[in-house]
Amino acid sequence: ASPADPMVRISLRLIPYSSSQWLVVVRDVTKLMRLEQVRRDFVANVSHELRTPLTVVHGYLDMIEPGEHPELATMVEEMRRQSQRMTQLVEDLLTLSRLEAQESLPEEPLAMAPMLVTLRREAEALSQGRHTVRVQDTAGCDLTGSTKELHSAFSNLVSNAIRYTPTGGSVLIRFEPVAGGGVRLAVQDTGYGIPEQHLPRITERFYRVSTSRSRESGGTGLGLSIVKHVLSLHQARLELESEVGRGSTFACVFGPARVRMRGPAGNPGAD
Ligand code: ADP
Repeated sequence: ASPADPMVRISLRLIPYSSSQWLVVVRDVTKLMRLEQVRRDFVANVSHELRTPLTVVHGYLDMIEPGEHPELATMVEEMRRQSQRMTQLVEDLLTLSRLEAQESLPEEPLAMAPMLVTLRREAEALSQGRHTVRVQDTAGCDLTGSTKELHSAFSNLVSNAIRYTPTGGSVLIRFEPVAGGGVRLAVQDTGYGIPEQHLPRITERFYRVSTSRSRESGGTGLGLSIVKHVLSLHQARLELESEVGRGSTFACVFGPARVRMRGPAGNPGAD
């Protein structure tokens, strides 16, 4: 421990040793946790500092009038696209830093009927008619949690389903009950699928199956990390099934404690 922060952090691990004995492994993780905090602060600060210059670049790019120079128009368009990508990256990094710093989120009633309508609209806007988008709601209940963060998690899954499904494919958003009184929001696509060896690492920051395809699809590489953090703050988990060439299903699984009776029709989510 240091004089500035006298707290010592330890990690305890119980390992079975024999039929009647356990090994207790005690590790001092004070330094490790402090380093982790330094990394988090660094990422948050850099991201924050990048916001203002990016806003300035955007502003000036919008003011450029290519006039009679078509090649200038192409260049400006590309610069706009790239600076928008950078802005999205910075926003996603800030979202992750914010989520990492939080221990809990507000417990709000979350009406699922309007949420599903919004998700469907978002999918259709992104697809621009290239996919069939369907929604099924058989859960008959709502959720409690942070509306903003859960919307961002669900949105990320829907956006991935569209971006990693070729034209002509379909995306199905299902809100359904699970055994034991819980509920799940599943996003199923008929897209490229993910090879099995990538599955264990798929929610790591910047981990991508095919870098070129992911870049082309316009993502930041942080979407699934955000999903994982949001779910963990709701004591929920991410389930994933995927088959190459057939498609993937990403499901957010919530326990009974997150389930809420659905309000009367016309006032979804109300008590
Ligand atoms: P990205 O911005 O690259 O999409 P994500 O964290 O959202 O970042 O996803 C990580 C990687 O997981 C993607 O680059 C892609 O390779 C893979 N992936 C995510 N969702 C799907 C999906 N529905 N179908 C196929 N691959 C997917």
